[in-house]
Parts: sequence; structure tokens; C-alpha cells
Amino acid sequence: MSNRKCEACGGRGWLLSAVTKDALRSQIQRCDACELYENDQAALEALVKAAGSQPALLQFVETVSRLLHEGEPGEDNQPHEPSSEDAIATLNQLILKARQLLGTAEKCGECGETVPYLIGCPDGAEICQDCFDAGEH
Ligand SMILES: [Zn+2]
Ligand SMILES: [Zn+2]
Repeated sequence: MSNRKCEACGGRGWLLSAVTKDALRSQIQRCDACELYENDQAALEALVKAAGSQPALLQFVETVSRLLHEGEPGEDNQPHEPSSEDAIATLNQLILKARQLLGTAEKCGECGETVPYLIGCPDGAEICQDCFDAGEH
């Protein structure tokens, strides 16, 4: 391994992904490019530690954990996922905020807005959900 910073995660060892219905719980992941941490759990712990000096980031982590906890199976053993569009939008807003704090927010190639995640188009453009829905590509 070289001393160069990992380009995928900026040397942090973890990544923030946007939330979809399919991947509600995996938005804090270890970086597979540099494998700085053993697994997602270790990466999450590192993030919580790093967040200790950044109140806004700590608040984000706490909110995410709470939302995810609410999504765990209840007493009837039926998972009640917070899978409503609202819950997902809320989570993505939080992730966007955290990314802005971390300086890793992504920019839409179409409208220039800072967005929680980008959608890759077949022609190579990376655009936001709004532009995608508007059929820009
Ligand atoms: Zn990395
Ligand atoms: Zn856009």
C-alpha cells in the first residue's frame, strides 16, 4: 500500500451512500477500495468517533441510528421499515448535510445543484434525481 490518500473515501475509510428502498440500512459503509476498516460496523464506529469533534455530524449520526432503529423488526417480528418516500427523503437530506460538512457532496452535471446522490446516465453524464425525472437525459 502506498501513502497516497484513498481517492474513493479521501482517506477516511468510510463512505456515505444515499438511501434507497433496497438499501435502507447500508448508507454508512466501509470503503472497499482501501479496506481501512474491517467491516461496516467498524467503519461506523470510526465515523462516530470522528463526529465527536463535529456536533453537526454527531447529530447526523444519532438521527440516522434512531431512524434505522425504528426500522428494526418489532415484537410481532414483522419488519416495519420506514420505507415511505418521506422517510427516505429525510434520510437523504441528512446524508446530503453530512456530506456538505465533510466536503464530499456531489454536484449535478445538469443543474449544478448539490445533491445527496447522482444517477449515472448511459451517456456518461451524472445528474440528480430531479433532472433524471425531468428526462434531461
Ligand atoms: Zn478508501
Ligand atoms: Zn440536476
